[in-house]
Amino acid sequence: MNWYEIFLNKFFHDPIDKPFDIKYHENRAKKYRELFGISSDLEKEFKYADIIASCMERSLIPKDTDNEQIRQEFNEIRHPLSEGRINVEIDKEKSIQEISKILEKISESYISYSEDKKSYAIWRNLLEDILNELKDTELQKYFAIIPADTRVPDHSLWEHLKITTATNAGEKLQNNSLFLFSLGPVQSFIKQARKTQDFYMGSFLLSYLTFIAIEVVIEHFGPTSIIYPDLYKQPLMDWYLKNKIKIEVKNFDVNSIQLPTIPNRFVAILGTTDSQEIINIAKEIKQKIKSQIEESCKVIFQQLNIQLNEDQNKIKELQLKDFPQIYWVAIPWRMGEEDIKIENLKEFYKEDILKKWQEFFDFAKKTGEHEPNVGFLYQLLYTALEKSHGAIKNQRIFEQIKEEGRKCSLCGERNVLFFLEKSKEKFIKFNPDAYSLKISTPKKYFDEEEGLCAICFLKRTFEEYLGKNVSNVFKDFSFPSTAEVATSDFKERLIKEAINLWDEYVGSLSKIKSLRVLPLPKLSKIAKSNVEGQYFYEETLKESNLEKDEDFYKNDIDIQELKKTLKEIYKKIGKPNPYYAILYLDGDNMGKWLSGENLPEIQHAYHSDVWKKMPQNFKQDLIKKSPKKILTPAIHSAISTSLRNYTIEFVRPIVEEEHLGKLIYAGGDDVLAFVNLKDLFDVMQKLRWAFSGQIKIENNKIQLDLNNTTGFVLKNQVYHLTMGSKATCSMGVVIAHYKEPLQLVIDKVFEMEKKAKDYGRDSFAICLMKHSGEERVGISRWKIDGKENTYLTTELFKQLKEKMDREQDEYISDGFIQKFRKEFYYLNISDLEEGLVKTEIKRLISRAYNSKDSKLKKEKFINDFYKSIEIILEETLKSEKYNKNNFTNLLEIISFMNRGE
Ligand SMILES: [Zn+2]
Repeated sequence: MNWYEIFLNKFFHDPIDKPFDIKYHENRAKKYRELFGISSDLEKEFKYADIIASCMERSLIPKDTDNEQIRQEFNEIRHPLSEGRINVEIDKEKSIQEISKILEKISESYISYSEDKKSYAIWRNLLEDILNELKDTELQKYFAIIPADTRVPDHSLWEHLKITTATNAGEKLQNNSLFLFSLGPVQSFIKQARKTQDFYMGSFLLSYLTFIAIEVVIEHFGPTSIIYPDLYKQPLMDWYLKNKIKIEVKNFDVNSIQLPTIPNRFVAILGTTDSQEIINIAKEIKQKIKSQIEESCKVIFQQLNIQLNEDQNKIKELQLKDFPQIYWVAIPWRMGEEDIKIENLKEFYKEDILKKWQEFFDFAKKTGEHEPNVGFLYQLLYTALEKSHGAIKNQRIFEQIKEEGRKCSLCGERNVLFFLEKSKEKFIKFNPDAYSLKISTPKKYFDEEEGLCAICFLKRTFEEYLGKNVSNVFKDFSFPSTAEVATSDFKERLIKEAINLWDEYVGSLSKIKSLRVLPLPKLSKIAKSNVEGQYFYEETLKESNLEKDEDFYKNDIDIQELKKTLKEIYKKIGKPNPYYAILYLDGDNMGKWLSGENLPEIQHAYHSDVWKKMPQNFKQDLIKKSPKKILTPAIHSAISTSLRNYTIEFVRPIVEEEHLGKLIYAGGDDVLAFVNLKDLFDVMQKLRWAFSGQIKIENNKIQLDLNNTTGFVLKNQVYHLTMGSKATCSMGVVIAHYKEPLQLVIDKVFEMEKKAKDYGRDSFAICLMKHSGEERVGISRWKIDGKENTYLTTELFKQLKEKMDREQDEYISDGFIQKFRKEFYYLNISDLEEGLVKTEIKRLISRAYNSKDSKLKKEKFINDFYKSIEIILEETLKSEKYNKNNFTNLLEIISFMNRGE
């Protein structure tokens, strides 16, 4: 049977308004099935999937209790990953009527689809359609998170439907396996970058290839079989639905596919336990990825007019042979004719752990409302899956290809296979079999001195394939350079304050086609045209021999005139800062989240009244057996939903709409982005607190709200699930000169992220790489618990930065930092009396005060400045490892951010 022949039966096994009235829910389910043209004949088939899914989610309601007592009306939603909750006040009867009316109205647009298209369309569009119809009602807020069970309201009905549709079960047998797939290498592959575009395209390529693998699984088992990541509204998935499945996709913006959001691994429930079938699926995935790469090369070669000879083809094949590396592992939920049992997992767990689980299982069997089944073992099965995946990854060794000759400019590992005809002399002697590219090859793909291997060439030119075969949004694609990021605040100011100078300067330079580039997304709203950022630095006009440059000559551009205009611009708005930032964020302890270790106490799964009403002895026993909530697939899927919401609903607006930044990657729990220095602290803190859902949206802007510990964020009048206030993340940041070799900067940002983790997580580490070669590294927690208050470190930094800005009417000159550093250089300040250090800092600060207006309140300014300094000093003194230098380094970095050197 094809997955879609039963998908809709399972999907509509519960009415989507179930929690509003449980009593008649089965009648409504039948009615809704009829509305959408789904027969109820397969009722028997889907009942068992529901039983397994439900067991995974809520088998721990005591059975001997009078039903009436435990029954609970829908008025509370619990956050799956924290202690957060929201209270719901809503007219239930009216809600059912409303939903019923809406379904009658919208079902028409689905009815004519064939079974497979209808399944995809309902999965993708139904919720969106309903929310649209519910516009401006109270119900709109909650509908995306309504609970599947009002007594255990910690997972949504949508999550439950996802798991039920993914589960394959009949009366006697269930037929499911957990499957984990990953592809690599990841960090070492994306690090190999000389241009910002390499960095981006490396991430994109891995994300794209992982999606190719995902396609195979959803074609066999449907879109809900993928438990992590959540495919719902993922750009590539939407693209697939629109172009391959050919259905209408609600609110899909094709431009969104430019951002890679699919992580390089996925977890799925495969509806089979047949090991041969699973092996075949894995083979099919491998094959599909291979032929995707083949096809991409073919298209790129055609586009660039490349014809390899036999020897060159052999080199290409050899270099691509182990790319990408693929790992997969599967654990069936059945052994022979029986469901897998706890004792079958001996090779993964110590005896005492299994014993505890067995006791827990027996407890649920004896006292629970429903008999536990294999679904109960999800946490054990998942952790075993992760363990075997880790073991496989460690075992596999890929042989290094041994080749003589010049190495690729990007990876330095493999031999050069492509170079420009112009630089033939350099390569042909050592790489006689390499291919020399024609003069007509677009300039952006190759620098003159570069030679690339087959893999790096694929990375560099992959946009050719994307533009031809995937979407027009990749045609004439350009990723902003480091200079573009660094100058974007300057450009914004120029457009706002002196548009005529902008028009004049950009107007003449944009005669040269290759200088025209896309500005950062936020800037593109106000910049109608744009030229490459580096032309806004006077050194570019000075250093290069532009008068002799062919393009400048051909287009009749007067360099002297340009220089004059640029001077005028500087006079008006100052010079551009040559520094920019890269940041890398990732979630802390994601392994523990995914394995259930970080889940809250078990009582937080229940509706608070239900917990109160449950028999005391049952609760005591329950806590003894399982102090924490257990990991169910619905909770797992909730983690995926939270991360999807984070990257798609929050990260993109923060980095690209509200601030001057450009994302390289935002998927899973990772974010990689370029950010302009002016907005760095704002972007950093918004990304951090959005991760734990401690934000609110006001006037369409994301704002910090540390008091929001519900775990849900209201956006466009719809509650969005987040990881919740118990989740934290760490960040590495590098501030670098736009001319600094990118590869060094990228290496450093990953190094900083490790430092932040070593600092105890929930922290960030910033490295300032000065162009002179000097480095400053500062590390801090996101939040400082002071004596009286809790402070946001980045807010303190922002205040200090502003107060050290020389352009302001009054400011503290940053010379005091150096003086402090010198005075205390040979002393360990943590040994000194705190009062002494503080008095000295205060003295240095007062002496560094400057003002353009004598009437200003000097004392207050100094005091305010000192107060922030004091909080940071106290905090840095607490950590022995990083005390003195960390403190002065942080201050230096803050001051540097005003306008560079
Ligand atoms: Zn290479």
